[in-house]
Amino acid sequence: MHGTSILEEADRLMTVCNSCRYCEGLCAVFPAMEMRRSFSDGDLNYLANLCHGCGACYTDCQFSPPHEFNVNVPRTLAIARAESYAAYAWPRALSALFARNGLAISIITALSVAAFIFGFAAFNDRQVLVGIHTGPGAFYQLMPHGAMAALFGAAFLYAMIALAMGVRAFWRDIGEPVGMSADAGSLWQAIKDAGELRYLDGGGVGCFNADERPNDLRKIYHHLTFYGFALCFAATCVATLYHYLLAREAPYPWWDLPVVLGTLGGIGLLIGAAGLFAEKWKRDPALVDQQRTGMDAAFIAMLFLTSLTGIALLLWRETAAMGPLLALHLGVVFSLFTTMPYGKFVHGIYRTIALVRYARERRMIAGNV
Ligand code: SF4
Ligand code: SF4
Repeated sequence: MHGTSILEEADRLMTVCNSCRYCEGLCAVFPAMEMRRSFSDGDLNYLANLCHGCGACYTDCQFSPPHEFNVNVPRTLAIARAESYAAYAWPRALSALFARNGLAISIITALSVAAFIFGFAAFNDRQVLVGIHTGPGAFYQLMPHGAMAALFGAAFLYAMIALAMGVRAFWRDIGEPVGMSADAGSLWQAIKDAGELRYLDGGGVGCFNADERPNDLRKIYHHLTFYGFALCFAATCVATLYHYLLAREAPYPWWDLPVVLGTLGGIGLLIGAAGLFAEKWKRDPALVDQQRTGMDAAFIAMLFLTSLTGIALLLWRETAAMGPLLALHLGVVFSLFTTMPYGKFVHGIYRTIALVRYARERRMIAGNV
């Protein structure tokens, strides 16, 4: 007996697949499945998070609908994956709320925080909002650096704690005891596999869409989104070091490292997020978890808006639009941080952990651990 009906279905499919094994070369899911004769809830959640949703095993399967076996591995694992995000989230109640209204909550949070910052500035000095401010410290005319650091530091800290609690729950559920660090070899293998999205390639031909003509566009847009996000995060870290170690205040000139990193990352995020949206509409409805597309859409939308408002701020920071644009950008970033633990952001983290476990299992079988 499993905890949910989707895990029951995943167990049924994995049992069929374990007898068939036709798809064992497509990705990591099937070799990991073959290491087991029966499946606990944790095993199924592990396999679900190992799946990259490429769709190849549906297209290749001789037992997919209308066959009476009704084998649909991508969709079943997509639903199990989404349910696992909710089960591991901390606090869990927020996850259920976000799953139903993700996009609305993200946008309302962003606009509320932007309005708060706007009101905060207007209360202190109206001219600050409509004036033109240039040079070091211009952004802090709107909101003092201390208040900004406290607000965003608290949001970031909250996100990190909630994510850490989720990771702990996942790590426990898939059968790795808490506190047992992965060996360095498994960790390195998983980082490489996650960094190159090794298993998002349909066994080499690309991801499948509604027209059954596989391509690598989802992989490319995922890369642009992930590395764009990483560059933006690096830009924020460098700017923080500039502020505290070198006493250099934002905004920085165009050629300076935080701006170069942020601009490249922002462009990557814009193209990546827009591309992921476009690819989402092209996917075969049979392959995806249609009930939870809102959660995906919320995360992609917030990434897109973070980048869009950041680039707009960069372009118009020396005009009177700087105040409203900064308030809007900060509101979107705040919303992104605080909703991260309840949305699609977690899929990258859980998938990487699943890859660590997979690498570890393989190394154990090979006698390297
Ligand atoms: S998805 Fe279909 S073809 Fe692939 S292993 Fe499972 S039953 Fe066999
Ligand atoms: S959808 Fe792709 S990644 Fe997922 S199990 Fe099937 S072949 Fe593997």
